Amino acid sequence: MSRYAGPACRLCRREGTKLFLKGTRCLTEKCAVDRRGYAPGQHGQSGGGRGRKTSEYAKQLREKQKVKRIYGLNERQFRNLFEVASHEPGVKGTNLLIALETRLDNIVYRMGFAASRRAARQLVRHGHVQVNGERVDIPSYKVIPGQEVGVEPASREIVPVKMAQESAARGAPMSWLSVDTEKAAGRLVELPTRETIPLNAQEQLIVELYSK
Ligand code: SF4
Repeated sequence: MSRYAGPACRLCRREGTKLFLKGTRCLTEKCAVDRRGYAPGQHGQSGGGRGRKTSEYAKQLREKQKVKRIYGLNERQFRNLFEVASHEPGVKGTNLLIALETRLDNIVYRMGFAASRRAARQLVRHGHVQVNGERVDIPSYKVIPGQEVGVEPASREIVPVKMAQESAARGAPMSWLSVDTEKAAGRLVELPTRETIPLNAQEQLIVELYSK
């Protein structure tokens, strides 16, 4: 199954919540969820089924779709990540979120070197990112505690990186990351915990869905 390539805002409207897929635009009044807070499509304005009583399965499915879309993964990637995470010790749902958060593209986004996860993935794919001083162009690369992630010296001045850094400087950094904004580099200090992952999701519903 391929990755969704349509308008990002449509996904937010489908889920009925902001998924923050377009960087700084998501924080402005141009956000489509704020402007048109109903589902997309012909039946969107009449509720699109949102008013109906939803089954447990439908809730689980929507939660999975929401989290999958936030991190920009396709079904196969998301499912594979879950399978690996569910065989590790600990709470399956939390393991899944940790696996998502420690992907290289997400770390680049969390460190504030890209305005969205989509932009972070592009940055990685185009060879602008290093891990421990070596170029890594695989967005799914799993970053482990102690590793340093940074934007290549020659790429630090490119406009999207500069703009993302300026906007990130206004927010609070993740407690599990140390970031040197000047050098466009940082380190994964430790694995995040559920409490330190700022994600409004009920991951247990995803575990239930995949455990059927
Ligand atoms: Fe979603 Fe951002 Fe578009 Fe708002 S602006 S609908 S949060 S992608």
